[in-house]
Amino acid sequence: MYDNLLANVPTDLWIGGKWRKSSDNSRFDVIDPATERKIASVANATVEDAKAALDAADAAFEGWAKRKPRERGEILRKCYELIMRDAERFAKLITLENGKALPDSRGEVAYAAEFFRWYAEEAVRNLGSISTAPASGARIVAQHKPAGIAVLVTPWNFPAAMATRKIGPALAAGCPVILKPASDTPLTMLALMPVLEEAGVPAGVVNVIPSRSSGKVVGHMLHDPRVRVVSFTGSTEVGRKLLHEAADNILKPAMELGGNAPFIVFDDADIDAAIDGAMIAKMRNMGEACTAANRFYVHEKVHDEFAKKLTDKMKSLKMGNGLDEGVNLGPLVNKDGRDKVIELVDDAVKKGAKVLAGGKLPEGPGFFYPATVLTNVSDDSKMLNEEIFGPVASIQTFTSEDEAIKRANDTEYGLVAYLYTKDLSRGMRVSEKLDFGMIGLNRGLVSDPAAPFGGTKQSGLGREGAHEGMMEFMETQYVSVSW
Ligand code: NAD
Repeated sequence: MYDNLLANVPTDLWIGGKWRKSSDNSRFDVIDPATERKIASVANATVEDAKAALDAADAAFEGWAKRKPRERGEILRKCYELIMRDAERFAKLITLENGKALPDSRGEVAYAAEFFRWYAEEAVRNLGSISTAPASGARIVAQHKPAGIAVLVTPWNFPAAMATRKIGPALAAGCPVILKPASDTPLTMLALMPVLEEAGVPAGVVNVIPSRSSGKVVGHMLHDPRVRVVSFTGSTEVGRKLLHEAADNILKPAMELGGNAPFIVFDDADIDAAIDGAMIAKMRNMGEACTAANRFYVHEKVHDEFAKKLTDKMKSLKMGNGLDEGVNLGPLVNKDGRDKVIELVDDAVKKGAKVLAGGKLPEGPGFFYPATVLTNVSDDSKMLNEEIFGPVASIQTFTSEDEAIKRANDTEYGLVAYLYTKDLSRGMRVSEKLDFGMIGLNRGLVSDPAAPFGGTKQSGLGREGAHEGMMEFMETQYVSVSW
């Protein structure tokens, strides 16, 4: 079954519309996290290869930027259609290299494709402005131009969507890109390249260079004067490093970094709706999402009901190979990811947490971790300050609105917060006091190509999706005119 899936998946570098080996012929392995079996060996880009990708992107820039916005939009629309035509193939490939269960992968493919459809529509909405300067009477003509070559660096947790969320707006804006996908999951993006070519994306406009030497390869590109944008999704630690490097060349940075999302359930919430939302906010992608609910704060009056219902739902999940029908909990992406979850749960349990579900490792092979619910989690538990990135719900209680807000905001991160209440005025009041870039109010999912996705504080800079996402790849030029 796997071999069929992998038969036509490219494993070389995609540079200037051609497949190439790496300059030193080195390769690295990709592992199926459900079986720990090697599934592919992928070309490992070097600095020489990065130079070739820069040359290809540079050669493609002028032609792509000059294409009429409608033409760029139509090519993007075609990308959307062709991805949806091949949706099941992409979903299986994502499951194979990332581990997530097929329903999650199917959701990701639809979400990933939607960035092409949305930006097909935005490509023709590059609006400028004209006004009269109050003092001089000159005309102020402001317009937005493509910024230049964009270097894109993406994580393994959404191998398709984290990349299309950058490629779609960059192409709509008129910028060529060089993508360095995560080394755990390079196959999905490589498999996408023939599809983009079929849709009409010209050679050199999108280049993909997987590499195990990411520091060197990305570092080289960020110091090339032709590069003008760096768009990164990943950990805050690596984002900070790239921001330092971006400073040398004064690049436009877009940084989608880590999160530590609170999920607040007030005593007037619809508890069943809150459970449905909690399952999405916690369990989409087995908890391996920057938006994953990391800390549940439940009003003490409804704590027992919430904990019981969440435990029942978590116990009902079927863990197994994500490719098998009926499975909705796949393995974590790799051993390090699972070891981190084990360490955080052990720490919480040592500090007094009570295990209501899960918590015990299954027999191997595969990097599986069961759906786990913890209550009585003490304030000094590490999992309250670090991303769990696994299927573990940690529940604490609160008694007043002010206390819930204070504790929710008590983190260096500011990506997303969730809250459930039937009182909409409370919902809006609390939302405004929460220091997060995104709020799920009676919703466990905020990701939407039409919405500005992004965080405050250590969770990042800039926004992806919506019109704002395209502006990350544009420079504003203003012409002062007398006529
Ligand atoms: P990571 O930071 O380890 O890696 C992300 C990417 O950066 C990978 O492609 C990696 O190869 C590359 N990289 C690593 N070191 C580098 C360096 N020195 N120079 C250049 N590139 C380098 O993150 P990860 O483990 O792949 O992903 C998980 C993290 O991503 C979590 O913190 C999660 O919250 C975050 N994330 C954020 C968002 C968001 O939109 N805010 C979305 C998904 C994931």
